[in-house]
Amino acid sequence: MIAAPTDRALLERFLLGRARLADDLWYGARSMATPLWAPWRMPYLLQSDKAKSSRGGGCFFCDHPVDVPAYRENLVVIVQEHAFVCLNRYPFTPSHLLVAPRRHVGDLGDLTEEEYAALMGLLRESTVRLRKAVSCSAMNVGFNLGTDAGAGVADHLHAHIVPRWRGDTNFMPVLADVRVMPEYLDDAWRRLWEAFADLPGDRAPEPQGPLNLTSEVSG
Ligand SMILES: [Zn+2]
Repeated sequence: MIAAPTDRALLERFLLGRARLADDLWYGARSMATPLWAPWRMPYLLQSDKAKSSRGGGCFFCDHPVDVPAYRENLVVIVQEHAFVCLNRYPFTPSHLLVAPRRHVGDLGDLTEEEYAALMGLLRESTVRLRKAVSCSAMNVGFNLGTDAGAGVADHLHAHIVPRWRGDTNFMPVLADVRVMPEYLDDAWRRLWEAFADLPGDRAPEPQGPLNLTSEVSG
């Protein structure tokens, strides 16, 4: 026969549950509050909204895929019929990718079935190739739909793929006001050019010569 719990046992169980709940809430809040520190994004944030969404009067998500000679300069990795991939010039972490449809639309619902399938297919392929190329331990993948959701360029849909490594938000930016970018954007582009070489699509010519392989450290 199982004895009924005493008042004291019930009280202890209740208090233990509350303590665990408090721990969970604290841990969750602390996790959500941990910033992904990216001060090099400040030049981008200081641009006007118009400048963010336009380059020479147009939309850079529309312009970059058709400007073939400038693929490298514009950090375009691969261009397919309905979608393309480029590096974010103002990354949250090194090798932060953007995957966008070719057509100028602002919402997933504006895509045709074919465009949606192409975009999602390229998004999936990009995560696979990025993981291999940069040996990240995790990644954040997602869309910001609309300015109020945080989209910098709200009128041309795009997905972010942010590779993450354990400890990538470390003490350096917090205590020393120093950022450490472990590679040049061009080196990242070259590494990804190679990683995406097996996918069908248009690409810049194969880059020649060694990588810069120089760490950039600035205040
Ligand atoms: Zn556009």
